[in-house]
Amino acid sequence: MRFIPLFSGSSGNSSLIEAGGVRLLVDAGLTGKAIADALKSISIDPDSISGILVTHDHVDHTKGIGVLSRKYNTPVYANAGTYAAMAPIVKEIDFANVRLFRTDEDFYIGELNVLPFKTPHDAAESVGFAFTEGSNKLCCMTDIGVFRESMFAAAAGSQLVFIEANHDVRMLKNGPYPYVLKQRILSESGHLSNENCGKALVRLHETGVRFAVLAHLSKENNTEEKAYRTVSTVLEEAGVTDMQLVVAKRDRITGIFEF
Ligand SMILES: [Zn+2]
Ligand SMILES: [Zn+2]
Repeated sequence: MRFIPLFSGSSGNSSLIEAGGVRLLVDAGLTGKAIADALKSISIDPDSISGILVTHDHVDHTKGIGVLSRKYNTPVYANAGTYAAMAPIVKEIDFANVRLFRTDEDFYIGELNVLPFKTPHDAAESVGFAFTEGSNKLCCMTDIGVFRESMFAAAAGSQLVFIEANHDVRMLKNGPYPYVLKQRILSESGHLSNENCGKALVRLHETGVRFAVLAHLSKENNTEEKAYRTVSTVLEEAGVTDMQLVVAKRDRITGIFEF
């Protein structure tokens, strides 16, 4: 299994996963050109992408989907709620490339098992994804307001967890956002703070998780250093000393993770 975060943050999200004989994008929230260029920079032909999986309809996850699907004839996998809500952004998708899945029901693309699981986030029908191939498991969950038990089950035992560390609560509270937006982000259907990300990882550590990529950092209300330090501190305070952390890059490829 190979996992490559291409872009991650409130200004646009897209990751690549290769496993089970297929190559998939999770979200495509920048221009189609930016994503195609990022793929080409690591010698991946955008034509070779077997599908784009969509977590939810927000533009930082869907901006380039329409262009990529039309240009490279790529299937788009989403649930019905997301398909309806993202239509104004992605425009027409060729009927042959429409792939509907149901939230909380797993399916296969090639040999790769995909479980879209419900996440509490204020979009039409937001999900995270757990990918399993043999004994390898990867879980992607960004845009989550709170870490629920059902998400814990989906992420348990993953070799790599790609998890949101969106904001530093103090920076957000003291920052420039209007009150209503601050309340939205802090709510259970908003975004996960650095501290709550750390707490989620403490729980996941019990299931064998030892590697996490901290994702979807807010540009205004977080820094790479704050995310790393806060999550590390929460882990240390809970006695967890063997969790490896990497902070995802907003505007470039974070790294190539192979397991
Ligand atoms: Zn969102
Ligand atoms: Zn987002």
